[in-house]
Amino acid sequence: MTGWNRDGRRHTDFPAAVRRQAQRELPAQCAECGATNCPLRLDHIRNTARGGNNTIDNAQWLCDTCHDRKTRREAAEGQAIRTAKRTRQPEPHPGLT
Ligand SMILES: [Zn+2]
Repeated sequence: MTGWNRDGRRHTDFPAAVRRQAQRELPAQCAECGATNCPLRLDHIRNTARGGNNTIDNAQWLCDTCHDRKTRREAAEGQAIRTAKRTRQPEPHPGLT
């Protein structure tokens, strides 16, 4: 399934068949902190924006807390890459210092 987030970025999600497979085959606990007694969401191990697939091999359960943290981390990394490209200055000439 392919859709668009409200912010306009391309967003893909796991098909229902993969979600059912994950419920059967993946351990029902957060892959990061190991929590079991909380709502879990199916997460892309490799973000689809970075070429991850909507397959069971790229799926893991995360609790809301870890999912939010991962989402923020990925957003921050994307921002850092763009910022670095935009603000990168040439190295000063060694003879000038
Ligand atoms: Zn967690």
